[in-house]
Amino acid sequence: MSSFKSLNLNPLILEALTAKGYTKPTPIQEQSIAHILNKGDILGIAQTGTGKTAAFSLPILTNLAAHQVKLKPYHMRCLILTPTRELASQIEDNIKGYGKNLNISSAVIFGGVNPRAQVSKMAKGVDIVIATPGRLLDLMNGGHIKFDQLEIFVLDEADRMLDMGFINDVKKIITKIPQKRQTLLFSATMPKDIAELSRKLLKDPKRVEVTPESTTVEKIKQSINYVEKINKPLLLESILQDKSIKFALVFTRTKHGANRVVQHLERAKIAARAIHGNKSQAAREKALSEFKNGRIRVLVATDIAARGIDISSITHVINYNLPDDPKSYVHRIGRTARAGREGVAISFCEPAEVKLLKDIEKCINYKIPVDETHPFHGVPAQIVKKENVPAEKKELAGKKPQSRSYRRKRSFSSNSSKKQK
Ligand code: AMP
Repeated sequence: MSSFKSLNLNPLILEALTAKGYTKPTPIQEQSIAHILNKGDILGIAQTGTGKTAAFSLPILTNLAAHQVKLKPYHMRCLILTPTRELASQIEDNIKGYGKNLNISSAVIFGGVNPRAQVSKMAKGVDIVIATPGRLLDLMNGGHIKFDQLEIFVLDEADRMLDMGFINDVKKIITKIPQKRQTLLFSATMPKDIAELSRKLLKDPKRVEVTPESTTVEKIKQSINYVEKINKPLLLESILQDKSIKFALVFTRTKHGANRVVQHLERAKIAARAIHGNKSQAAREKALSEFKNGRIRVLVATDIAARGIDISSITHVINYNLPDDPKSYVHRIGRTARAGREGVAISFCEPAEVKLLKDIEKCINYKIPVDETHPFHGVPAQIVKKENVPAEKKELAGKKPQSRSYRRKRSFSSNSSKKQK
């Protein structure tokens, strides 16, 4: 493991890192810093929490400080595009902290506030601009942004840009920046559109892939609930009737799926909110704060929208749909059992998801115990109707013909009857 000292960073930055209490680089920092210092492009597969902000900020600051440039009005040397205001502010705070002993200027540009202060800051020229795409485009169209002096372009959280519908704005911005530049692209996942974009944007990039450590996983009580797809809303409802579930984060595959789950829960008088890319920033923030202050117990999210959520009080993670990427399973369940607490992770598995479950179990090298006691285990889809569930649960679950031939037909039997480790 290298030290920051061996990475050729500006000594004034090293002082700032010591003051911040950083003792050694994280894996993404170890793998990226030297390459970025050498002006190479990076394709970083990493999410928040891995130390990726410092991974790109430290070498950028070092390189910019190594040769200072007189900036023309409205010009910048480095543009960092990021999807949300919170991330933009967070990145600027970090950059200010790391570069506090350097003479490097920075500015944030995002919507929802009066643009006047941003415009007057840009009028002087700024070394590092951290921006969300929409407002940056507005200022560009108003003639307040010039890219002729741009040397470095960072696209942060590219997959989230896609999820939040910003990708066309990003593409418009890219057409205006100089061809000759250094480009760093970070994304937690690699959907097809982002892989395509990265091929267009990056020149001979170094690929760096890290996943956050999941040391907490052992403290999480995991289980699989086999259930027919159509019975999932009722299973979720029945689980959430248990008031000992204080804070549950429910993952769905799609944004519409998240909305449908919330609608179902609200009809069942269980307060819940959805957060995903089709929700406005304000709606997401409201949902998160209601969840954090205990006004709602249930947050329903898609993978990408849930990324920034770091709430130590989450007691339960419920996978309403299993993720396509087995690594996402580890990320998802790692949302509980934070800060030394215990956690529970319940995963629903419908017949079409058995293959995904197998992939997950292979990836984590652990056969997740099956809960055969839940009310919809072995219950076929067509029998369950909302109004007769409570009375019929026991009776249905106890019907033998379904639990053998039926389950074998639906490819559940091999999993549910095997003895668990
Ligand atoms: P990020 O993934 O950039 O959001 O960083 C996650 C957190 O890790 C932030 O609070 C950083 O301040 C912190 N951090 C980044 N690099 C290091 C390091 N080398 N040592 C300790 N903390 C770090």
